[in-house]
Amino acid sequence: MTHSRPGRIAVVGSNMVDLVTYITRMPAPGETLEAPDFEIGCGGKGANQAVAAAKLGSAVSMVTKVGSDLFGDNTIRNLDDHGIDTRHVGRVAEKSSGVAPIFVDPTGENSILIVKGANADLSPADVDAAEATLRAADLILMQMEVPLATVTHTVRRAAEWGVRTILNPAPAPAGLNVDDLRDLSFLIPNESELALLSGQPTGTEAEIEAAARGLIARGIGTVIVTLGGRGARLVSRDGVVKIAPVRVAPVDTTGAGDAFIGAFAHFLAATGDVELALNRAARYAAHSVTGRGTQKSYATAAAFDAFCR
Ligand code: ADP
Repeated sequence: MTHSRPGRIAVVGSNMVDLVTYITRMPAPGETLEAPDFEIGCGGKGANQAVAAAKLGSAVSMVTKVGSDLFGDNTIRNLDDHGIDTRHVGRVAEKSSGVAPIFVDPTGENSILIVKGANADLSPADVDAAEATLRAADLILMQMEVPLATVTHTVRRAAEWGVRTILNPAPAPAGLNVDDLRDLSFLIPNESELALLSGQPTGTEAEIEAAARGLIARGIGTVIVTLGGRGARLVSRDGVVKIAPVRVAPVDTTGAGDAFIGAFAHFLAATGDVELALNRAARYAAHSVTGRGTQKSYATAAAFDAFCR
């Protein structure tokens, strides 16, 4: 396994507390239904991706905001426990932290509500305040659970600093102008996010490729489309590369995309090889869907090595 040099990864993104209810079915309006199980976990796309990269051995810093509640204390403790630098985790007075009620059905499919809370207060000024840390990173990772202006500001500043950027445009961003992502190094959407961003259908392989090429023509460096159990596609000016799925029996697909992106960032920073990093990321994400929860289902470097053998 390649863990040659631990990379430095900075995440400008969200944190959430996952309130995970395992259900037999969704209750109808007005109905009260017993659910077999409940778990509380640390989540949020930003924190999930940070934890995946940290568990694999990267040096990770997180730029995020929590509220003035117990969930915020819990989030900071969790990041600390994973060895993530929390210097740039801000506190917002009189606001809740982000929370995500998640419902997982017996097939492993999940339905998620997002209450952004303090994540909505992460501002371009917070990014500027973290400049020294961000400039020192090999890669800056972003998602869309923080304000759009903060994301586009980070993309612009990182280009000035010469730091490569990865944006996972999830949840699917309404109002994101692709022209604001001109300086972005890697965009990693799933099929529906790609359709929304490109304004084109993504129902077939040819459509996915055409939609991704359209975004590259508008200035984005490389587009990586994740396709769930069908793997992923790497689309760049050099062409299209299929990243094969790794076949597993899924138990809980919550956070698979975040596992994929955190692992991709880790292996890219460590090796500089995009294709290798994507194949490792697909394997890492496949492993994560075999366990319950989000961050809890992410393998450490040692557990991942064992899974790969
Ligand atoms: P998102 O959750 O963001 O929609 P995807 O569902 O596309 O992301 O999953 C991200 C990646 O995780 C996929 O590209 C694939 O490599 C891996 N993955 C997801 N679901 C499965 C699965 N059922 N079996 C194997 N790999 C999976």
